[in-house]
Amino acid sequence: VSTVVESLTKAPRNIAFPQKDGRPQLISEIFGQNVFSFKQMSTRLPKPVYNTFLRQLRGNETIDKNTADAIAHAAKVWAMERGATHFTHWFQPQTDSTAEKHDSFLTLKSTFEKGFEEVECVDTLSGSQLLQSEPDASSFPSGGMRSTFEARGYTIWDTKSPMFLQEGPHGTSVLYIPSVFISYNGQALDEKTVLLRSSEVLAKNAIKVLDLIHDPENEHRVRQVHTSLGTEQEYFLIDRALYTLRPDLKITGRTLIGGLPPRHQQLEDHYFGKIPSRVLAAMSECEYELYKLGVPCKTRHNEVAPAQFELAPIYEEAMIAVDHNLLTMDVLHRVAHRHKLKVLFHEKPFKGVNGSGKHCNWSMTTDSGINLLEPTAKPEKNLPFLIFLLATLKALQDHGDLLRAGIASASNDHRLGAHEAPPGIISAFLGDHLTEVLDSIEQDRPVKAFNSPEMQSVRVGGTVLDLKVATLPNIARDLTDRNRTSPFAFTGNKFEFRAVGSKQSVSFPVTLLNSAVASALEEVAAELEKQKGDKEYASEEDQIAVIKHFIKLTKDVRFEGDNYSDAWVEEAEKRGLPNIKNSYDAFSRLREARNADMLEKVGVFSKEELHSRYHILMEKYAKDVRIEAQTLHTMVVQQILPAAFAYRKELAEGASMLKAVDAGAEPELKVLKELTPILTNLQAGIVDLEKQIAASDDITDDIAALGKHSQAELLPAIENVRSYADALESIVGDKFWPLPKYTELFLNI
Ligand code: ADP
Ligand code: MG
Repeated sequence: VSTVVESLTKAPRNIAFPQKDGRPQLISEIFGQNVFSFKQMSTRLPKPVYNTFLRQLRGNETIDKNTADAIAHAAKVWAMERGATHFTHWFQPQTDSTAEKHDSFLTLKSTFEKGFEEVECVDTLSGSQLLQSEPDASSFPSGGMRSTFEARGYTIWDTKSPMFLQEGPHGTSVLYIPSVFISYNGQALDEKTVLLRSSEVLAKNAIKVLDLIHDPENEHRVRQVHTSLGTEQEYFLIDRALYTLRPDLKITGRTLIGGLPPRHQQLEDHYFGKIPSRVLAAMSECEYELYKLGVPCKTRHNEVAPAQFELAPIYEEAMIAVDHNLLTMDVLHRVAHRHKLKVLFHEKPFKGVNGSGKHCNWSMTTDSGINLLEPTAKPEKNLPFLIFLLATLKALQDHGDLLRAGIASASNDHRLGAHEAPPGIISAFLGDHLTEVLDSIEQDRPVKAFNSPEMQSVRVGGTVLDLKVATLPNIARDLTDRNRTSPFAFTGNKFEFRAVGSKQSVSFPVTLLNSAVASALEEVAAELEKQKGDKEYASEEDQIAVIKHFIKLTKDVRFEGDNYSDAWVEEAEKRGLPNIKNSYDAFSRLREARNADMLEKVGVFSKEELHSRYHILMEKYAKDVRIEAQTLHTMVVQQILPAAFAYRKELAEGASMLKAVDAGAEPELKVLKELTPILTNLQAGIVDLEKQIAASDDITDDIAALGKHSQAELLPAIENVRSYADALESIVGDKFWPLPKYTELFLNI
C-alpha cells in the first residue's frame, strides 16, 4: 500500500528545455548537435582527406593510415570540445541490444630531462584505434563459430553510420564509433554486417533490373539504391516502484501471473487519448535526448492497451534507422528511470491486453530520390513500380517462412497468433486499387473504376469524400483503406512489416527481407533478359510480359481479408502457405535448403554463419523459456503459496473462533473449500514444472531437442501453473496478495 501511495503522490519530473532568446530551443536548433556529421567532417577535415573518405563510402577505395589518422584526430578534437574523455566502438552482437567498451583518450609519453624520465599525459585517438578494436569477446553469442580458446573478434568502424556523443559521468561525454563485429576469420558475429551485405546486394540487383528497363530518353542512370526504414516503436510504461515488486517483470520482462481487471482496454479510450502528464514529461525528455543524437522522432501517442505508448521516427536509410532504433530503446530506458518509470519492451508483458510490435516501414529509393514503391497516379502505367512491387511479393511468396523466422522469439510468440496480432502466416495486403490493377493486367482488360473522372481527386490517386457538412473542407481519400490484420501491408508507398516484435533488433528481419527481395530481383532480371532477347533494353511489351508472369507466380501470397479469422487459416493451408505458430518451427526454417541456398547465393549468410544464427536463436529461445519456468516456480513457492496459506490460516482461525461462540462459520468455510482444490492443483502443477525443468536440464547437446522441449513441455507447464495462480489471485484477500496487480500497474502512471 505504501508503495502505491508513494507512486501516486509523485510529481512529474520536469526538465527545463534549454532556452534561447527567452524561449525553449527549437528542435532544429538541437537536432544532431551530438553527431559528428558529414557536415562537421567536411568543415573540419582537409579537403583531400574528406574526399578519400567519400570515395571509400562509395566503395571505391579503402581508407589508408594517413586518412584514418586525420579523421580520428578531427573526431577527437570535436568530441573533446564537447567534454569527451573516452571513446568506444559501439556494436550490435546477437543479443537484441548493443555492446560497448570504453577506452580513455589517455596516452603516456616519456621525455627525458637531464637523464630523468618524465612521464607526461596526452589525449590521443589514433587512426588505427578508430578503424579497429579487438574486444576480448569470447562471451558474446557465436553459435559455435568461436570457442573460448580462439576468442579473437574484431570490431571495425562502420563508416556509413556517423559517430556521436553520449553522456558520460560527471558531465563528461563518450565518443561512440558505430562498428561491425566479426570473428577472426571474418564471419559476421553481429547484426550489422549482414544488414550491410543485404543492402549492398539489394542495391546491386535493383540496379541490374533498372538498367534492363532503362528508358533511353532518360539521361540519369541509377547508380545507387538504398533501403528506407521507419520503425514504429511500441512500449509500455509502468511505475518503477511497483515494477520492483514484480520479480517476473524484472527477470523475464513479462508478468507470469496476473488476471485482467474489470476495466482494461474494452472501452477503447486509451488509444490516442490524452497522454498522462508524467508520461509526457518522460517522452519529451527522451525526444530531447534523441534529437541531440540526430534521431528524427516524429510521432508520440497512447496505444491501444492501458499504459501502452508509441514513438515513431521519420524513416531513414535502413542501417541508420536500425542504429537509431537501438538508441531510442536505450534512451527510453534511461530516461524512464529518471522519471521513476519503467519501460517494458517485451511483446506481451500483460496477458489479455494488446501486446507491442515494431512496425517496419520499408521501401527502396534511388539516388535521384525516386521511391521505387511509389505507385503514382496511374500505377497500371508505372512499369518500374509494378516490377519492384512484384519482386517484393515474390520474395514473400518464396521465403515467407524465412521472414517468419526473422521475427520469432519466445516473447513474440505470445503476440503472433494471439487474436490481436497477425498470425504466423505471412501474406501481403495490397488494397482494392492495386489488386484491381494487378487483376486487370493479368486478365488483359482495362482497369476498372479507379481512374474514372468522378473518382479522381485533388490528391494524386485518391477520391474525394463528401462529409455532408458545408463548413468542412473537402478531403481526399487514400488509394486504399488499411488492413490492420495483415502482417505485411502495402501502405501508400511502402510496405509495412507489422509482425516484427517490439523488443528485437529489426536488423535481422530487415536483412532477411532485403535478401529475399534481392534474390527475387535476380529472377526478375533473368526473365527480363529472356524477354528482351538481343535488344539493348526490355521494351514495354517485354516488361508487361514479365509483370504478368510474376503476377501469376505471386497470387497466393496476396490476401485482402481478415487475417485474424479462422477462414484465413483454412484458406492459407489450401494455398500451401506455411502457418508457423511458434519459434521452434520458425527457426527450423532457417535450415531448409530453399532458404539457406538463397541466403548463400545472394552472399548475405554463408552456411556456417546461418547455422550459427540458428543455434544462437534456438538456444536463446530455450533459455528464455527456462528462465520463465524457474522464475514462476520461485514466485509460486516463495510468494503465492505463503500468501494463500496465510489467508487460509486467517479463515480457519476465524471459523474456529466463530464456532466457539456458536456463530455460523459457513461463509469462511465456503471460501476455504474453494481454495483447497486450487491449491492442490497448483502444487501438482509445481511438481510437474519441476519435472519439466529437470528434463530440460538433461538435454545438453541437442539444441533442436531443447527447443522442442521448451515449446512442447515447458511452456504448457508454465501456463498450467499460471492458471491456478491466477485463480488464487481472484479469491485470496487483497491484503494478503504479495504482488501489485494489473489494476495498479495499469493505472498508476
Ligand atoms: P502510416 O500512417 O501509413 O503508418 P506514417 O506516415 O505514419 O504512415 O509513417 C509511419 C512510418 O513509416 C514512419 O516512421 C514514416 O517515416 C515511415 N515511412 C513513411 N514513408 C516511408 C517510406 N517510403 N519508406 C519507409 N518508411 C516510410
Ligand atoms: Mg502502431
